[in-house]
Amino acid sequence: MGEHGKELAIYIHLPFCVRKCLYCDFISGPYGEDVRKSYVNKLLWEIDSFFDEYREENIVITSIFFGGGTPSIIPPEEIAKILCKLKEHADFIEPEITIEVNPGTGEPSLFEKYHEIGINRISIGLQSTSDEELKTLGRIHTYEQFLNTLDSVKAAGFTNISADVMYAVPGQNYKSFERTLRKVADLGLNHISAYSLIVEEGTPFYDMDLDLPSEDVERRMYRGVSRILAEYGLKQYEISNYAKPGYECRHNIAYWTGKEYAGFGIAAASLIENLRFTNTKSMDDYLAVSDYETLKKLRTDVENLSREDCMSEAVILGLRMNQGVSDKAFYEKFGQHLSDVYPKEILKHKLEGLLKEAEDGSISLTAKGRDLSNYVMADFI
Ligand code: SF4
Repeated sequence: MGEHGKELAIYIHLPFCVRKCLYCDFISGPYGEDVRKSYVNKLLWEIDSFFDEYREENIVITSIFFGGGTPSIIPPEEIAKILCKLKEHADFIEPEITIEVNPGTGEPSLFEKYHEIGINRISIGLQSTSDEELKTLGRIHTYEQFLNTLDSVKAAGFTNISADVMYAVPGQNYKSFERTLRKVADLGLNHISAYSLIVEEGTPFYDMDLDLPSEDVERRMYRGVSRILAEYGLKQYEISNYAKPGYECRHNIAYWTGKEYAGFGIAAASLIENLRFTNTKSMDDYLAVSDYETLKKLRTDVENLSREDCMSEAVILGLRMNQGVSDKAFYEKFGQHLSDVYPKEILKHKLEGLLKEAEDGSISLTAKGRDLSNYVMADFI
């Protein structure tokens, strides 16, 4: 319980894209306007149904994230309806409200409208400053379109702006990636997310013969990101995220610190009172459903987290962040210290130089540990 009530982070999935990028395995697609309208109406219904059942007193929404897909395809009036619906059920105490934007979509006036309806953070999916790489990835936009979008976003009054950059793209080498990164960092953004391309089964990339950088080059790129972005004042605060002080994404930090979150729309995940679940991934099922009990039956990955699961998650998610896992917060939640629950694991990774333990008992990954984060985290499962 926070100072003003029960805190909740909200995710709204808007699974609409102009066309699929060649590497994308997100639940999204190029649906028509009719489906988009019905979907937003169903979202409003789902929000009502959720809050009717989740009868906590004084719910405070701390962050809202409109993700996709390409949320910028949805008219701002529809986004405003969703925000109003959330306000009917919970208090807003200066929440961070983010919307993802694809540079190939949206007139300049779109961002003024976003600003008017209370959105205060824009996350732009750039991926690369090379038009050739953007084409290889199947993106619908050019670098110039990104720059125009950024100008419009700034002109509308936004200061909290993030861009996504991708590394290990086919045909990329260390030098070309560094060029992209420096070009983006030079734009004075306050937040950058840098992810490596993962070739997922079921995507067109999976069946293509791709000229991918070697694992060594990919690791060099990953290490290069934190060093280069630090030169521009963007400090790494999580495995893939870099920000100027005060611009860390509050919504994602809520996930990594084990706060409760409610996701609405297809494939949206929630964690409510130790129950974790994902909504149906089927657009047809989502639109056809008319009572909440049926929607609940269509959930997947439903898991009632045990106390051990919650402790393990607290460590694994916490280690994603540079600040690591606070022993004080862990003790407040579970009544035990990290060193009592995981003595062997902590010692093993400290001896390997992958984990640091502060005087107050908090643990975090070393720079070397961040390179091998999956290996370290696997021991806390
Ligand atoms: S814009 Fe994003 S969600 Fe849409 S297809 Fe491309 S990567 Fe996937």
